[in-house]
Amino acid sequence: MEPSTPRPQLRVGLSPLYRTVNLGEQLGLNHLYVKDDGQNPTASLKDRASVIAVMKAVEEKMTTIACSSTGNAASSLAGNAAAMGLKTFIFVPGRAPQGKVAQLLIFGANVISVQGSYSDAFQLSAEAIERWGWYNRNAAINPYLMEGKKTVSLEIAEQLAWDAPDWVVVSVGDGCIISGVWKGFQDLYRVGWIDKLPKLLGVQAAGCSPLADAILEDRAWRPAEENTIADSIAVGVPRNAEKALRAVRESKGTMVTVSDEEILSAMRLLGRTSGIFGEPAGVTGLAGLKTLVERGVIGSDERVVVIVTGNGLKDVKNAITAAGEPIKVEPSMDQLVAELKKRQLP
Ligand SMILES: *Cc1c(COP(=O)(O)O)cnc(C)c1O
Repeated sequence: MEPSTPRPQLRVGLSPLYRTVNLGEQLGLNHLYVKDDGQNPTASLKDRASVIAVMKAVEEKMTTIACSSTGNAASSLAGNAAAMGLKTFIFVPGRAPQGKVAQLLIFGANVISVQGSYSDAFQLSAEAIERWGWYNRNAAINPYLMEGKKTVSLEIAEQLAWDAPDWVVVSVGDGCIISGVWKGFQDLYRVGWIDKLPKLLGVQAAGCSPLADAILEDRAWRPAEENTIADSIAVGVPRNAEKALRAVRESKGTMVTVSDEEILSAMRLLGRTSGIFGEPAGVTGLAGLKTLVERGVIGSDERVVVIVTGNGLKDVKNAITAAGEPIKVEPSMDQLVAELKKRQLP
């Protein structure tokens, strides 16, 4: 940022790092922390990148900014742009959850719902940006965004009093967050503020796992289907594949895939043990962590930070799928007693 650049208006980052004792007990981990990045202004980690994109656009005196997104980059760009008085054109795939589309519309974006996959939306946005000369927020294209994403690691290190954790766990779509996380820790290590680097665990949905497959089979990545409820990480053609793979390998970490069932179950587990509400992609990291603890890859005394990347209110439909329906009664005490009895409550 230039000294003359106006300050952003929204409070981005500075999300809490919780020591989640109950959740740790459930998983068999003695030192488990959750970084709740669903508490950003538009409720996902993407705000860390979007605020930089918007400030760079302001510096360059651009008035319109555009991106394609599975949902969160979009709503985050729209919100941060609205706060600085910029116009936005946002390309989302038709399947984007309603909560995210509602955010876009409320923030005044011009929303283009592309009836196709995320790859189709990305392609069309690239052509439109070229044609109309808008500022490009597409994450793997704009190099400044990594600098925004890495701030999550700077905060984790500070919140742990500069004693880096053994593992940092994050869900992976395009691969920008995990590369940013790695850059943050590497920067701190190089200047000597931390004296070791964490291993990275990157987690993908089994229905869309081009990067995890590449790591697990030790080969180059190949495009994959986009077949998962975790819409934010349903990325068949990841835009930051090489950096993400390098980050995982350099850190001596690994990747793993989890089923949609395991993702829904992780939403319930996190909510019930911690009072934290994550969207499906937001808790995919946690689902993968559970798997690796069960397999004995991560030991009970290792210090682990899981990043919850997005808030569950963005995708209420899947939350209800995960958690079930409420107990329905007429306004009648008799019926309440009967319904509770059926469930052996209270
Ligand atoms: C974007 C996003 C991810 C994945 O980030 P990538 O940089 O695409 O790997 C994970 N979770 C949520 C909630 C996201 O919005």
